[in-house]
Amino acid sequence: MRAILLGAPGVGKGTTAGLLVEHYGVVHISTGDMFRSALKNETKVGLVAKSYVEKGLLVPDNITNDLVEERLLSDDVKNGFLFDGYPRNLFQAEEFDKILKNKNWNLDAVIYITASDECVIERIAGRRVCPKCGAVYHITNIPPKVSDICDNCGTTIIQRKDDSKETVLDRLRIYKEQTKPLISYYEAKGLLVEVDGSKNVELTFKQIKEKFKG
Ligand code: AMP
Repeated sequence: MRAILLGAPGVGKGTTAGLLVEHYGVVHISTGDMFRSALKNETKVGLVAKSYVEKGLLVPDNITNDLVEERLLSDDVKNGFLFDGYPRNLFQAEEFDKILKNKNWNLDAVIYITASDECVIERIAGRRVCPKCGAVYHITNIPPKVSDICDNCGTTIIQRKDDSKETVLDRLRIYKEQTKPLISYYEAKGLLVEVDGSKNVELTFKQIKEKFKG
């Protein structure tokens, strides 16, 4: 499977990716995770990306596309991949097409997960993450076993800076202006697989397995 997960911030792309990766044996490539890790390690890319990521703005396209191109040089992508958070605008989508063409790779599907604005805003407001291992929780839907403590590594979980109330509306606006046009872009290529993400992750996963005949 070579696929992209498309959908608003907070719609559940990362959580769904966890199940898909296990089922299809592919790697999960989240450009957001890559930027957060670059920030944490204070790499050159991280230092440039910091102000964009923290404000919920898109990191410049050339930096993002280069990061993706380099990631696709690794051996682990040979059995397939699932992109999450990339491409995020038409320019990135066109560049991604070129990167794949150079490798003679085709995309199998673009999985578009839908949910209302109210639903994604509520999910983002309650989202907590482990700053150490990256595990994702929700204060009411997916709480850790012990309040505020990561189940996997015992670290105190936190709210992402860009999940703050002030930033969320900007991220949604950018999604609608820049990322939503990708729906018709991929629909025209016959790649779009639309699923309802408003219930729970198991139901989202079930719809994808039914609709994606890979
Ligand atoms: P995410 O975890 O996908 O919500 O991404 C977190 C942040 O990383 C975004 O708000 C952007 O600042 C940055 N980012 C992630 N993916 C991209 C992308 N494809 N293009 C530009 N910036 C990105």
